[in-house]
Amino acid sequence: MGLVIGITGGIGSGKTTVANHFHDNYHIDIVDADLVAREVVEPGSDGLQAIITQFGGDIIHSDGTLNRVKLRELVFADPKNKAWIDQLLHPMIRQKMQQQIQQSTSPYCLLVIPLMAENNLQTMADQVLVVDVSPETQVQRTLARDGVSKEQVHAILKAQASREQRLAIADDIISNDGRSELLAEKIAQLHRKYLALCK
Ligand code: ADP
Repeated sequence: MGLVIGITGGIGSGKTTVANHFHDNYHIDIVDADLVAREVVEPGSDGLQAIITQFGGDIIHSDGTLNRVKLRELVFADPKNKAWIDQLLHPMIRQKMQQQIQQSTSPYCLLVIPLMAENNLQTMADQVLVVDVSPETQVQRTLARDGVSKEQVHAILKAQASREQRLAIADDIISNDGRSELLAEKIAQLHRKYLALCK
């Protein structure tokens, strides 16, 4: 198993943009925590079955997929529900991310974890890369991308780790307040650094 580079950043910071650049230009494998979090509750999964047993059959849609709106309501309604869900899914997500890391064939792999600082998941990575932007940029880009309200974006920012908390776990930082064309040179530098660390 090669080197694992964890990449994180707040909503709208540019994690996906940066990770895709590593993938498209250097063929680096990506393990995406958000995708894995969806896989562990796919129809037929142990995760979804446990959720149905706990909350009843109303928690799935008629097509057998998880009703995320309903689950979110339950989680907001009672912190015990959130604790239960986290205890069920977090180990499954970690295990599946480990499996995908082991299957990676690129010299190093990128582990994209939006809530890395919040959940102390920097322990899964050898090096942490933080994509950093100002809160103003985060709000502006998230509004443009997701078509949500300003209030919703502010609420999400408030629920996430602070800029300082994220920077505190960084080995390297990519500033992404400027044009995305400016990312290429910094990413090339980091790629060389990570290759050197693999040796
Ligand atoms: P994250 O994965 O951290 O939520 P994304 O990579 O999806 O962030 O970026 C958020 C939005 O901002 C996307 O629509 C993306 O295309 C755009 N974006 C990313 N970097 C830049 C940049 N430097 N300049 C302008 N837009 C950007």
